[in-house]
Amino acid sequence: MPLRRLALPLFLALAIAGCLPISAPPPQGLQPPTPALAAAAGPGSSGLNDPLFPLLGNGGYDVQHYALDLDVHVPSNTITATATIVATATQNLSAFNLDFSGLTVTEITVNDLAAVHTRSDPEMTVVPALPLMEGSLFTTTVSYHGTPRPLRDPAIGFAALGWNHAGNLIYVVSEPSGAMTWYPNNNHPSDKATYTMRVTVDKPYTVAANGELVKIEEQDGRRATYTWTMDAPMASYLATLVIGDLVRVDNERSGQVRIRNYFPTEDANRLAIQFSVTAEMIDYYSAILGDYPFETYGVAVLPFHLGYALETQTLSIFGNDGGMEGVIAHELMHQWLGNHVTPATWQDIWLNEGFATYFQRLWLDHKLGRGFLDTGMVSYYKLLKAGHAGPPGAVGAHDMFSSTVYERGAWTLHALRLQVGDEAFFRIIREYYRRHAGGNVSTAGFIAVANEVSGQDLTEFLNNWIYGPELPPIPEETITDTEGN
Ligand SMILES: [Zn+2]
Repeated sequence: MPLRRLALPLFLALAIAGCLPISAPPPQGLQPPTPALAAAAGPGSSGLNDPLFPLLGNGGYDVQHYALDLDVHVPSNTITATATIVATATQNLSAFNLDFSGLTVTEITVNDLAAVHTRSDPEMTVVPALPLMEGSLFTTTVSYHGTPRPLRDPAIGFAALGWNHAGNLIYVVSEPSGAMTWYPNNNHPSDKATYTMRVTVDKPYTVAANGELVKIEEQDGRRATYTWTMDAPMASYLATLVIGDLVRVDNERSGQVRIRNYFPTEDANRLAIQFSVTAEMIDYYSAILGDYPFETYGVAVLPFHLGYALETQTLSIFGNDGGMEGVIAHELMHQWLGNHVTPATWQDIWLNEGFATYFQRLWLDHKLGRGFLDTGMVSYYKLLKAGHAGPPGAVGAHDMFSSTVYERGAWTLHALRLQVGDEAFFRIIREYYRRHAGGNVSTAGFIAVANEVSGQDLTEFLNNWIYGPELPPIPEETITDTEGN
């Protein structure tokens, strides 16, 4: 997602161009609750008290799987859909909320029994016929239809979030809150789940989504149903769908990782060349971080300028302006850090963007030499200093895609590297990824790994970089290195 750019020297602008703008299981058998349970059950909370978006997400349950069945008419942008949500109750529940914006709900069931619902957009409260016991798995189905509209979050002015319609194209770019524009969910990165998406469209539209394309079923000769599965946990903001006149182009594999891209038909040859670097990048990051976390990767390129790119899981989305090498590296690297290891709250966004920004430069450093990285980082330090860049770990919603997060975040990692040396730095990063793979992590979790792996107490050092109002000085070693002493 977009970085608010500072004026940069050309070489540095090129170096960081990627920084973006870029950037069912079955229901449990019904157990009538005991009178004691019924008396003890209460409603789940309507939000998770995220520091930036307190009402996103809901309390009282943990989603395991979403099965989304959508019938989409592209020219009119209308859908008829059923979302089946399998979740575990984390408390005794008399009611729970889903985040859902717009669209018309026709029916909701919980464990096959009709449920009552009320809406106060984007909150939807569901009252099951029977209370749900803590620890029980329960299945909610929501039937709905209408025309999905993107959100305009006042804090994030540059993008229409969620489901977007542009003529004969539909695409979903949700970070941070847009997922609720097209399916009801627990809309917070801390509740990751697996997905199945069955999407029916008129021929000859093509449907691209996260994960694996399992099958394409013909319907009556005019329509086709695409089934996609995402078998690894995924945050709601990373779920995507792209429907349009797209051609699939497969790249050479990287090890076991299949690479499939979706390009606008008229631009496919040019884009295939532009994105052919992907396998080499997967090899490079796998060597640093550990194996690529999913079975597939690729990009979906939209047939117009988007102004940013987004790391939607296993299928990053680009505009046709976004294929610079730094951006390609940035969105790919997010698959490890951001997608497979996901921030616990939106205030930990620097753990996404600081890492992706620094690691896109490591790719360029790999191609061009360490001097390029050091010179560029020192130049950028001066700009951060001149711009009085605030602490990346304490931003508000309107600053979550700012240079503070991307650039001071990247500098936090560079400073750590200079402080502990290359060997310890890369051991810290590998262990941080390994330990939190598939889950969520807070900034404190990162600092804990750095302390443990380095054998040093880096808490104050890192806190100054992440939370200190003033930009800390460059660690001594940098000055020595860059002067060639
Ligand atoms: Zn990013």
